[in-house]
Amino acid sequence: TLLVRLNKYLSMCGVTSRRKADQLIKEGRVKVNGLVVRELGYKIDPHRDTVEVDGKVLKPPRKRYIALYKPCCYLTAIGRGVGDKKPLDELLKGIPERVFPAGRLDYNAEGLLILTNDGELANRILHPRYKLPKVYKVLVRGKVEQATLKRMLEGAQLLDGFAKPQDVKFLRYEGENTWLQITFTIGRKHIVKRYCAHFGHKVLRLIRIAIGPIRLGKLSPGKWRDLTLQEVTELK
Ligand code: URA
Repeated sequence: TLLVRLNKYLSMCGVTSRRKADQLIKEGRVKVNGLVVRELGYKIDPHRDTVEVDGKVLKPPRKRYIALYKPCCYLTAIGRGVGDKKPLDELLKGIPERVFPAGRLDYNAEGLLILTNDGELANRILHPRYKLPKVYKVLVRGKVEQATLKRMLEGAQLLDGFAKPQDVKFLRYEGENTWLQITFTIGRKHIVKRYCAHFGHKVLRLIRIAIGPIRLGKLSPGKWRDLTLQEVTELK
């Protein structure tokens, strides 16, 4: 099982910030399984250990389901970046629970990410068996012609096998480029970019607007919201 540092657990449960949690621990106000713990690096098992602060037993962190509009130029990662590429952490302030992205978007792709601390639900989103449609708005270089659009609906042999979108729609031309809406139920790496490239159209912008029943809606770039109870139910 996954052990968690005591100070982190206190902040996950919404008791206080991690720094202040260290203070509580030093002051002897935190008990694990009935015994005071003053060791700062102490690790607990959230499923087995009972943690008290000032004599009050902490409830385990609640299940959290977040929709985030990942802007361009963030990694789909929590905790650490790569070089000067940032993880999502600074966008997720105000969420004490440890949530993880269920699915990924490329560094330069945008749009809907679902984050949760509910592993079972994450699996429902990720597992190919459930064939959850992911809908993308895509700006591609060049004017996509009617004939190409028709071929795009029929599927294509890519390097890692045959791929067929559930749907491809023409949205509009923008100058010499084209906005399409493409829906895939598969979740292969760079699938939209590779699929469009196969038809000679380089992807310039990629925005995921829906994952199954969850829509990006009016969320602005960099912002998050809790999923509604209804949305969570629809995912299950
Ligand atoms: N397809 C891509 O090419 N990139 C993404 O981020 C998602 C789907």
